[in-house]
Amino acid sequence: MSALKDVISCISDYDPEALPVERANQVIRSFVQPVAGFETVAVRAALDRVLAEDIVSPIDVPAHDNSAMDGWAVRFADLSQNAEVALTEIGTAYAGKECKEKAGPGQCVRVMTGAVMPEGTDTVVIQELVKIEGKRVIVPPGQERAQNTRRAGEDLQAGKPALNAGTLVRPAELGLIASLGIARVNVRRRLRVAFFSTGDELRSLDEVASGAAAPPKKGEIYDSNRYTLWGMLQRLGCEVIDMGVVRDDPVLLEAAFARAAASADAVITSGGVSVGEADYTKQMMAKLGEVVFWKIAMRPGRPMAIGRIEGAGNSAYLFGLPGNPVAVMVTFYHFVRGALLTMMGRKDTDLPLVRAKSETLIRKKPGRTEYQRGILRRADGEWTVRLTGAQGSGILRSMSEANCFVVLHHEQGSVKPGDPVDVMLMEGLV
Ligand code: AMP
Ligand code: MG
Repeated sequence: MSALKDVISCISDYDPEALPVERANQVIRSFVQPVAGFETVAVRAALDRVLAEDIVSPIDVPAHDNSAMDGWAVRFADLSQNAEVALTEIGTAYAGKECKEKAGPGQCVRVMTGAVMPEGTDTVVIQELVKIEGKRVIVPPGQERAQNTRRAGEDLQAGKPALNAGTLVRPAELGLIASLGIARVNVRRRLRVAFFSTGDELRSLDEVASGAAAPPKKGEIYDSNRYTLWGMLQRLGCEVIDMGVVRDDPVLLEAAFARAAASADAVITSGGVSVGEADYTKQMMAKLGEVVFWKIAMRPGRPMAIGRIEGAGNSAYLFGLPGNPVAVMVTFYHFVRGALLTMMGRKDTDLPLVRAKSETLIRKKPGRTEYQRGILRRADGEWTVRLTGAQGSGILRSMSEANCFVVLHHEQGSVKPGDPVDVMLMEGLV
């Protein structure tokens, strides 16, 4: 396990007071390591999990050369490139039934899709092309060798990895694993993630609803970050440990951090990492492990803490996110998501950016990355994007209305109406 300071010492132009997004991600990705430990589950239970090891195919798929179409299995050597040829049908081959017939010169076999190619044959002529005269099958010229056949092992070959460790199991992988006759697979164990909100101004919805706490007074607000965080972690398939709201009290904070570190692989908090924050959150983070505090050159989501903290002999990665609700989501998607996927053993963590035409002027200063919330749509035959309206980091509605992030890169300046911009779809991300 590498120390954070060693990772940071390898990063060029490291400036914690104005860290570009790419640099921050570079540190995070080199810092976090996949968790050890896997479990063996039935194929369907592997959906949305990550393969812990390569799946080596025990068989060829398909196992035998077979017909891809209904028609006649013929010997290509019998055919002519410039004249019709008359062949004699000697039998029929069905899918799933063994075919006893062996085709000699001048002979052919009626075949159904999926039937094993009868011995002696190598090519299939589809039924629409042939003429039938009693037992005589007239094949027109111009056929190609091996046409309309599927070769043994053309999908997967015995002894070769069919799927690699680190692959996310999606519906296609479920089918592929089943096609190999494999009923149980080894997947990485689920990631355990503990999270809590910090701040004296927060009222916890569950406590208020159950009557255990008073409704918010003037200046107090409902804690919403724990709900977005819970949802984002669920979508990633994590085991979540919701630790509630923790008051700005050094004793309570220390206990919460220690308990979270003791039970989880990662700890995520929101709030208390801003500059000049008059609370103990930062102090406690620094006290319990190796933690760095960043001001990231981005919007929203400038302040963030990253590190490892200890509790009861266990250590956990720490992600101290800002307090503002949009900043929480943006920093989660653009830093924490990739880190958690890496911890889960995933190899492919990046999402594609696509280009769309901006419908409006978007103001932007070079020197920071912005993740504005946008609505992508198809208009007059092309993809266009507009912003969701007010982009304040506390306006969660901007996330709810959006179907994409408009990604404005570090060096980029303002975008004129009609200019192309990069867009990251929320489908697949959220
Ligand atoms: P902080 O970084 O702690 O100064 O928080 C920045 C802003 O986010 C403040 O306006 C907080 O009230 C707000 N905030 C912090 N935590 C939460 C939360 N869990 N839910 C909603 N808003 C929050
Ligand atoms: Mg606070």
